[in-house]
Amino acid sequence: MSATTDVNLETVITKAQIAQREWAANPLARSTALSKAAEIFKAHQAELVESMVKEVHKPLTEARGECGRAIAILEFFSATVLDPDGDTYPGVNSTLLYSQRRPHGVAGLITPWNFPVAIPLWKAAPALAAGNAVVIKPSEFSTQTALLVSELLNKVLPPDIFTVVPGGAEIGRELIERADVISFTGSVKVGRTVVAEAARLGKPVQAEMGGLNPAIVLPDADLSLLAAQFPIAAFSYSGQKCTATRRVIIVGDQARRDEVTKVLTEVTQKLVVGDASSETTFVGPLIHSASFENYANAVTSAAQVGEILAGGVVNRDGKNLPTPTLTRGVPLTHQLMCEEVFGPIAHIVYASDANEAIAIANGVEYGLTASIHTQDLASAITLSSQLKTGMVKVNGPTAGVDFYAPFGGTKSSSYGMREQGKVAMDFYTRLQTVTITPGKGRF
Ligand code: NAD
Repeated sequence: MSATTDVNLETVITKAQIAQREWAANPLARSTALSKAAEIFKAHQAELVESMVKEVHKPLTEARGECGRAIAILEFFSATVLDPDGDTYPGVNSTLLYSQRRPHGVAGLITPWNFPVAIPLWKAAPALAAGNAVVIKPSEFSTQTALLVSELLNKVLPPDIFTVVPGGAEIGRELIERADVISFTGSVKVGRTVVAEAARLGKPVQAEMGGLNPAIVLPDADLSLLAAQFPIAAFSYSGQKCTATRRVIIVGDQARRDEVTKVLTEVTQKLVVGDASSETTFVGPLIHSASFENYANAVTSAAQVGEILAGGVVNRDGKNLPTPTLTRGVPLTHQLMCEEVFGPIAHIVYASDANEAIAIANGVEYGLTASIHTQDLASAITLSSQLKTGMVKVNGPTAGVDFYAPFGGTKSSSYGMREQGKVAMDFYTRLQTVTITPGKGRF
């Protein structure tokens, strides 16, 4: 079964369990299938891009980038299948003592809409590589793209190894009950319930959730580089990224604060807002009207308690098109500075020195990623170590990840083991230690 809209999850899982046994037994077949999947995705890039633009309003250029990343992920995990999967230990009297990674069985994946191709694949590819079957419940807002991903993967995977089960919270809850291992990406609110339920059932679980990511701009930061990166960091895909920069903490005297603020305001004002299918669009429509209202309320609140530097115009014409908004003066204790708003709004904060900047950066419940902008290596190293985030970029935008390196955060942003890179294989396997004693020379 590749995809179903009339889901009997019990049947899906039973079939997946049966198919998984043979899948787990043949690593060469897994490696070949993932490599062929990469080829299929290359051949169908245009359809995948079109689906993302149409369904989740991902601007064309970003949709192309996501597709390229999906292909790279499949290629990476095709090779990873054949990595060593255990260790041997010194055995007493010729005993063979080794540990080996074994798949859990059926991986249940629950995904959001904002990376409708890359997130399902960065979970499914390591799960499959490790020998699991995969059942995935995509977001209700990216069902069609998930079904297309499934159709393409099922051109090369054995039957019942990868199944998409569309639906909402209810099917997500049932998947947690029936799968052997659970990986979730989405909001903190839902992620916490997923983790609690999986833990209650004693199942391995990881959850990647929201962020309120800071960018610390030190007095020696290269402003032209920052100006080039800031739109990507804060406003790419209309700020609908867990890794988006939400708070810009500028360190320096008044003249420096004014200089950095002016540069960031100007680049924000120049961003092109429009239809996601246009080559020139940088900021497209938000995913749905509820999300737009959330963004609009944030803009209204920011104008009441702080100052709008760029954007701030709320146009309720039904198109859900936001204006990228930059503010300053919003108090650190205000809800806007403490909770994620999943849209194109970022806030400037001033700090008198690096210590204060670190305190502000760390002073929230989230800890996904952060950036430091400086030309001083010692500052970069010292401040990186003081940031309580899972990831740090020096002179780079918080948004954007390297699929071959561990990905994840701290505090409310993440729970459990890291995703992506080779470390992802640890989550999708259990480590078994085996002791083989030769007996009386029978081997
Ligand atoms: P969401 O939490 O609303 O939904 C995520 C998924 O959970 C969907 O498939 C949804 O149907 C499902 N779901 C909802 N209730 C459920 C329940 N009770 N049990 C099981 N499943 C349930 O999130 P969203 O709006 O799709 O995505 C946006 C959020 O995702 C943002 O907060 C963003 O920061 C976060 N995100 C995080 C990362 C990361 O890697 N840290 C990446 C992308 C998005």
